[in-house]
Amino acid sequence: MGGMDSADLMKKILSRYRDSALARSLVNKIWEVARDLPRVRIMHVCGTHEWTITHWGIRALLPDNVEVRAGPGCPVCITPASDIDVAVKLALDGINVLTYGDMSRAKGSRMISLEDCAVDGGKVRIAYSFMDAVKIASNNPDREYIFLGAGFETTAPTVAYYVLKGLPRNLKILSAHRYVPPAVGSLAESEDLEIDGFINPGHASTVSGMKAYKPYFDRCGRPMVFAGFEPIDVLMAIYMILKQLKERAPRMENEYVRSVTWEGNLRAQQALQEVFDFEEGYWRGVAIIPASAMNFKEKFSQVDARRIYGLEYGRGDYFPSEARCAEIIKGIIDPPDCPLYMKICTPLTPVGPAMVGLEGTCRIWAQNRILVKDIKCMSGACGISREAKPVKRS
Ligand code: SF4
Repeated sequence: MGGMDSADLMKKILSRYRDSALARSLVNKIWEVARDLPRVRIMHVCGTHEWTITHWGIRALLPDNVEVRAGPGCPVCITPASDIDVAVKLALDGINVLTYGDMSRAKGSRMISLEDCAVDGGKVRIAYSFMDAVKIASNNPDREYIFLGAGFETTAPTVAYYVLKGLPRNLKILSAHRYVPPAVGSLAESEDLEIDGFINPGHASTVSGMKAYKPYFDRCGRPMVFAGFEPIDVLMAIYMILKQLKERAPRMENEYVRSVTWEGNLRAQQALQEVFDFEEGYWRGVAIIPASAMNFKEKFSQVDARRIYGLEYGRGDYFPSEARCAEIIKGIIDPPDCPLYMKICTPLTPVGPAMVGLEGTCRIWAQNRILVKDIKCMSGACGISREAKPVKRS
């Protein structure tokens, strides 16, 4: 590797996980093992996995009895509408609301987003990260700021770290952070989904560790494979799940050994445990899920916007009529099943949160130009498209 610059090195490493010959042999193995199985429904709960699957045309490569569905893996999509309403009201009342760009475009129960309310004089500013929010508040000590914090255990540790370190006194946080393992447990028990196995999220699990999923695995007894985000990772995870199903030996397995461990990131976990209580929380479009909301402990009341402004914990659900966002977020239907998809609801004119969030299923399908149901993505970007024409789902 001597003489290689870091971009070349990254390219070389990535090429191993995008190797078409390896992908082809994995697809063959998937077909072989799936031959002896009935219909199999696999769910992932991560927008980045959906991006990999859609962008690389992985659904087109699978046998017709193997289906991979996108679950609630987009933090913007599952943020309660009532939390958006509250942030909009605060912004219109003259409090400076900071949030991420995609979060600012998600609409609440009155179909008003933070971006919309900024047009009417609401005080809204985009933060590119929580560190950026801290910097903005530090540089403007005479203004009051609230950060609308949405995200999973991937982003919440940064917030916890800064809270422990000490925030600028003019910065408060409206926490809408959610913890993924209980959501996987809830999906596994959902009767309308009938999931046979889970691809668990690689980066969230890098923080929580595999052990966080053990109680839910013990309860549901379905295969769980922790996977990375390259096409080979995802194909491998699908193969591992199918193999477990064929052997009738469900287990927790780790495909993403280069990042996920059994214990996870202990320092990040410690920061989360120190700052947050893990309480029941609403996931928009999904359900109230026990132990999934990261709410500030009482000793951090001074940064907790809910306590300071007397705000309820987010419960509100709302989607416009005809919009089928709840079924999208829960992984029941595909984007083209929604009558608004790419007609009224587009990346430029989003109606529902799944078209707004960078990890939203509708947005990912739209950006990859998947327009029609019953056509498995044909991009064949792995170079191993199995058919030159659309393939009907069974
Ligand atoms: S297309 Fe828009 S309205 Fe329809 S489900 Fe997706 S996000 Fe919701």
